[in-house]
Formats: sequence, C-alpha cells, structure tokens
Amino acid sequence: MAITSENNPSGSYRYRSSQFLYAMTYVAVTLAVLVFLNLYCSTISKRLIYRSKEHSLVEKCHLAADELGTLEELDAFAISQILGKMESLTVTRLIVTDPGCAALYDSALTAAGQRILLPEVLQALEGDDVFNGDYQKGVVICRAATPITHGGKRIGCVYMTEYDPVRGALVRSLQIHVFQITAVLEVFVLLFALIYSARFGLRMSRIMNSMRIIQSGDYSHKVVIGGSDELAMLGREFNDLTDRLQLSEQKRTQFVADASHEIKTPLASIKLLSDSILQNDMDAATMREFVADIGAEAERLNRMTEKLLALTKLDSNPSSEVEIIHMAPTIRRVSKILLPTAQAAGVTVELHLEDPCPVLLLEDDLYQIVFNLMENGMKYNVPGGKLEVRLFREGDNAVLTVSDTGTGIPEEALPHLFERFYRADKSRSRATGGSGLGLSIVHAFVQNNGGTIRAQSTLGKGSCFTVTFPLFDTEAAL
Ligand code: ADP
Repeated sequence: MAITSENNPSGSYRYRSSQFLYAMTYVAVTLAVLVFLNLYCSTISKRLIYRSKEHSLVEKCHLAADELGTLEELDAFAISQILGKMESLTVTRLIVTDPGCAALYDSALTAAGQRILLPEVLQALEGDDVFNGDYQKGVVICRAATPITHGGKRIGCVYMTEYDPVRGALVRSLQIHVFQITAVLEVFVLLFALIYSARFGLRMSRIMNSMRIIQSGDYSHKVVIGGSDELAMLGREFNDLTDRLQLSEQKRTQFVADASHEIKTPLASIKLLSDSILQNDMDAATMREFVADIGAEAERLNRMTEKLLALTKLDSNPSSEVEIIHMAPTIRRVSKILLPTAQAAGVTVELHLEDPCPVLLLEDDLYQIVFNLMENGMKYNVPGGKLEVRLFREGDNAVLTVSDTGTGIPEEALPHLFERFYRADKSRSRATGGSGLGLSIVHAFVQNNGGTIRAQSTLGKGSCFTVTFPLFDTEAAL
C-alpha cells in the first residue's frame, strides 16, 4: 500500500506510507517471535522426551552389558542365550559387537558379521556410556551404547535402538498445535496491522487534503478527525492554527481595507484642491490658502504612513530589547515637545511625577506611549481645559495616568478604543488630523512591554488613561 504521487493530487513529491512500513515491520517482528517460539517449543519438548528415555535405555544397556560381562569371551551363541533370558530388554534393535566393531549379535539379524561403525558404538568402545536422541517423521528414535567389560578388559559393546512412535506422535501434535496457533495469531496480527495502517492512512490523508484546501486559501476549512489519539490531537491543533490564520487573515484584509480608505480621503482632498487651483481663476491669497490645505493633507498622509509603518513593524518584529529606564525624564521630555500643541489648544499641562520609577522598557516605546496619550489629551480637550499627568509607585508597579478635562468618550466606544482606525468622534478626529491609529500603537507598545492599559471616561467631563508597568527591582538585580 505504498502511497505515491499518483494518488497524491499535489504531485509534488513521491512518498511511501510510513505507517504501512511500520505495520509490515510489526508483522515481520511478530512472525519472527512466533517462529522462534515454535522452534523453542518443539526443541524443548523433544529434549524432555529424550531425557525421559535416556535413563531407561542406558539402564537396559547396562543390564545387558553386565550380563554379557560374565562371559570370558563373546560369541554369538552365548550372547543370544543370555539375551534370550532377559525379557525386560524390549527394544527395537540390539547389537553386540566385539572390540573391533564387528557385530556378533543383531536382533534384526541383518548386520551380523558386519562391522558396525556407528558413532555410538565407536564411542562406547572407547569406554563411555553414550545416548543420542532423534526425531524423524513422527517417530522418536533413541540410541544408546555401553562397553562390555570382563575382568577390567573391554571385550565389546552393547548398542540399542528404540523407536517410539507414541511419543513421536506427541511431539508431532504439539508441533502442529503450536503452528496452528502461530498461524492464527499471525493472521490476526496481519489483519490488525492492515486495518490499522489503512485507517491511519485514511485519517492522515484527510489531514493532508485539509492542508491542501487551506493552502489554496480557504482558511475556514476544518479537519474532522475523531478519536483521542495523537492524530486527533494533531487535527485539533491544526484547526486551532487555521482559526488563528483565519483571524489574522481577516485582520490583515480589514487593515488593508481601512488603510486604503484612510489614505484615499486625504488623497481625494489633495486632488480636489489641486483641480480647483487649476480650473479656477483665483486670487493669490485664495491660492495660498488652497496650497496650505494641500500641505496639511500631505502632512496628515505623512503622519498616517509613519504610524502604519510603526504598526506593521510592531506586528512583524516586536522589539525584544529592553533597558532599565526611569519614566519621569521621558514624560518631561514629551511634555516639553508638546508645549506648542498645548498652547495652541489652550490647555494647561500639570505633571506630578514620582522619581525614580525604574522600569524595564525601551525609552523610544515609552516616548511613543506618553506622546500619543498626551497629544490626545490636548487634541480632544476644550480651550481652557487641563491635562494632568501623574506617575507613582503602587505595589510592584509603576502607574502612569493621563487625564484630561476634554470632551470625553461615549461608553459604547470605550471597548473599541484600541482597535486600528477606530475613532469615537470621526469629525473631530479628522479635523485634528487624527488617523485612529494612535491608541492601537500605544496598546501594542504597552502589551509588548508586559504592561496594561485602561481607559475611563465621562462624556463631557474628560477621560483618563491608566498605564502600568512592573517596577524594576534594582535591589534584587544587584
Ligand atoms: P486619532 O488619531 O483619531 O486620535 P487614536 O487612536 O489616538 O486616533 O484615538 C482613537 C479615538 O479615540 C479618537 O478618534 C478619539 O475619538 C478617541 N480619543 C482618544 N483619546 C481621547 C481623549 N483623551 N478624549 C476623548 N476622546 C479620545
């Protein structure tokens, strides 16, 4: 069941189903184990039978050898006389040889007078008791031999063979049974491996198909994988991933649409103003006014593109660098830069800053945060209004509040304040050159630096933005 590019619609590469290979390896390993068990059972059962036969056959050899050892010299007649009296010697074949291996007596009568060069005979004539067991075609064959001695002299040997078909049948039936069990087990293993591998392959191809669908751009597609194993987990993770992809794709599309829309407005104004200059016969003062408006729109475009750039930079590469900074000097610096804006808006600025308030933060990030919040507090204020900036320590945090006595924000707008391009008061925001991006930049900077931001407002009375950052513990750092 090798899966190749033929049934791989993408056709980009050839691959083999690794699960099929695993399944076949599993089958091969279990087969090897079962074959080994077969051989082991068969060998052990034969050995047990040989051992049970060894004692009695060697005993019979000894009996015969002891009786024959009473003879001074072995001859066929005397041997058959002695053996004839020994009724207990019920063996398949009995041979008695002289020291030169010549058969003096053979119960089967076929080898009498011939030289018997069997290994058992040769070894017995060396003086040892010998026993060998064998199994052939359903019969257990045992061979034993022992030397015959008379007065310390070796005068020949007794060799016995016993065929045991009963025990042979036992071994055979054991072998057949174990083989049958092995075959049944192996068939089960093979079936299980094939079913499991096919099921795995099917579920895997479902995931791969889903990947292809998502690759083609359909981020709403979901993988449906049942169960609670690793593949089901992979499916769930995959769905989570596509959810996130879908969300980020939605955000991206929304962002591009919003950005294009926002850029279109000042561009349209510029076009309108320049067309008016070209088409109308206007006096120099009006023309200067129109050109100044074009400049203001271009300036707005410039500010917007700078903010858009800052946002995309934050999205793609949030800064991981930090430094230990004291917040108060940065706030004072922003306040100084924004003094002309405050004067133009007729807003008085009050700073109540606790120093030192060390935090782990990039100074540029803090500058952006404070700048946007203070600028908003001036932009959306009323002439004669007040902007109050406080910095203080509260527990393990440095808390910055920027509160104004301005127009305030409607309650329903508060949850959307940090969204990109969101404006609570569109006309005022446009009039003040706003883009709806400032607070989303502030929010991203605060989050990237491990802080929190909260907005409170009462319509007609003013707004208060509270930012907290964990204080840097200078003592612990030493
Ligand atoms: P903008 O460039 O329009 O000022 P911001 O993201 O800074 O964009 O602010 C989003 C909206 O929130 C603004 O359009 C404004 O309506 C509202 N807003 C922000 N700060 C204040 C504030 N201090 N007082 C009243 N409204 C505010």
